[in-house]
Amino acid sequence: MPENEEVPPKFIADHMLGRLARWLRILGYDTLFAADSAAGAGQALDDAVIARLAQAEDRWLLTRDRQLLRRRGLRGLLIEAENVEAQLAQVVRACGLTSQRLFTRCLVCNALLEEIAKSAVAGLVPPYVYRTQAQFRRCPACGRIYWRGTHWRAMSEKLKSFTIS
Ligand SMILES: [Zn+2]
Repeated sequence: MPENEEVPPKFIADHMLGRLARWLRILGYDTLFAADSAAGAGQALDDAVIARLAQAEDRWLLTRDRQLLRRRGLRGLLIEAENVEAQLAQVVRACGLTSQRLFTRCLVCNALLEEIAKSAVAGLVPPYVYRTQAQFRRCPACGRIYWRGTHWRAMSEKLKSFTIS
């Protein structure tokens, strides 16, 4: 497993793999999801566009479609497991993923989050969250604000069940 990945792997996941795409974003890896309108020109991506994006942007193609994976010049993984944990374990092993970038990326639109001062989120997050959390991050694309609340802890616990460093 590469200790100092200079360029972390990037991904594009086909329409069937939305939950896997979300987990890769939780891990902080740049992941396009074919069914996201944000990924393309305002509509879900078809196979030709998926293949072109994978090639042009040097993304690992994650797909359940053996045919799609056969296209020339593509690097990808055939994802056969139904269970998202098994799917993620496959990608983690194949691509040497680590947890160093955990929770650095927006789960909805894939953008890198920015640190934001606590004072700047007053009134934008629930009062209880504001009282009990010290650190906040904001997505520059969609404006969502993230903090290490119960959801974060639940996902951290779940990630421990995967063998990643
Ligand atoms: Zn966002």
